[in-house]
Amino acid sequence: MLNNTNNSLCNDAKSQLEAAYTYINVKANIKNILSVPKESLEVSIPVKMDSGDVKIFKGYRVHYDNSRGPYKGGIRFHPGVSLDEVTALSFWMTFKCAVVNIPFGGGKGGVIVDTKSLSKGEIERLSRGYITAVSDFIGPDKDIPAPDVYTNPQIMAWMADQYGILKGVPTPAIITGKPIEFGGSIGRSDATSQGGLYVIDSAVKVLGLDKNKLTVAVQGFGNAGYNIAKLMYNSGYNVVAVSDSNGGIYSDKWFNPEQIMDIKNLSGSVTAAAIGDIKKITNEELLELDVDILIPSALEAQITKDNANNIKAKIILELANGPITHEADKILDKKGIFVIPDILANAGGVTVSYFEWVQNRTGYYWDIDTVHKRLEKIMVASFNDIYSNCNKHDISLRTAAYVLALERITKAIDARMHV
Ligand code: NAD
Repeated sequence: MLNNTNNSLCNDAKSQLEAAYTYINVKANIKNILSVPKESLEVSIPVKMDSGDVKIFKGYRVHYDNSRGPYKGGIRFHPGVSLDEVTALSFWMTFKCAVVNIPFGGGKGGVIVDTKSLSKGEIERLSRGYITAVSDFIGPDKDIPAPDVYTNPQIMAWMADQYGILKGVPTPAIITGKPIEFGGSIGRSDATSQGGLYVIDSAVKVLGLDKNKLTVAVQGFGNAGYNIAKLMYNSGYNVVAVSDSNGGIYSDKWFNPEQIMDIKNLSGSVTAAAIGDIKKITNEELLELDVDILIPSALEAQITKDNANNIKAKIILELANGPITHEADKILDKKGIFVIPDILANAGGVTVSYFEWVQNRTGYYWDIDTVHKRLEKIMVASFNDIYSNCNKHDISLRTAAYVLALERITKAIDARMHV
């Protein structure tokens, strides 16, 4: 087991919590408990490559807090994964689950790997190897992983299968985000974005705007980014820019994200759609476009003190985790930009993961209308609670979201420990 690291992403995440302590009375002992993760595991995963050589990959699983229920959080496969990043992500999961009031704490996992350089067989062996390495650290009542950047339902299926093999009994509730045929929930694949749509619709309503007149730019074109672009386009918003790791595209007219995905599937990048009215742009340019709504849906720390002053969007929906640094957040706040924080904006994913876990535990599977109705109820109620807190105390939506989450987490810690 390792101690918490002390560098920037994690500290940046905790600054968001510090801001909320001004508006809610939290006992010093509870602040201490919430200042560090409960435990962190670092593993070395030997994987037999197609060449016959064995390569060792480094992976992590962090348990931040389980006061409100089992640890919950995705597994990221990315070359930039670090203990600091996984810890920050597990911290955000703790507060996100409390914001939407589902009975989970916060955890997260990751492996340092560039999946684009691996074959399908190598990715399967790495996925199974990761679960073998962390198998005693997770469990359906203890810590339930899910997909994150560069992991997907197929990888979740290999991981759940591996856990069942190790424990000698199929255990679908060990992991969420599985394929529907293997215990997944209908509606999970685009749940993060569906939840984001309920939240942005609620924001547009309270701000008195007309969505048919609003332009949207989306950074990242994976599970979160592609689905939010598609859902918003289908719902009447004007999607004018999208991007992936190779760069972006922009049109002064709207375009259909499904057609852009067809091109990406054939060519490997959205940039291949830059023909006629659609122009190629960089990821940096996308963030600074003069649009109504900006939706970062890729990685952390995309808006920093260096570009925050150039952001022109009126609303930012943080579908990615931690896309705005704490310093940048203060600049955006001063500029009057309506920032909908990650711990609310992307909580649809973990909410439907909770639904999947409930369905796995009961063996009774819901239809899509039930999933959407229950998701909408939770997302709209959470937005309204946070929005009214933000008006009441004249604070940002982010601080209001932390205050709401803290009220729930501190009560759970107090009930268990009387600190
Ligand atoms: P994904 O792997 O499906 O997609 C990631 C996308 O980001 C890809 O299109 C990739 O090309 C793009 N990308 C990578 N590096 C980039 C860069 N430097 N600039 C621009 N684009 C880049 O991942 P995802 O599941 O969509 O996750 C994206 C974000 O959403 C992450 O912050 C993740 O933690 C968050 N999130 C995801 C879920 C979920 O259910 N998938 C839930 C909550 C939060």
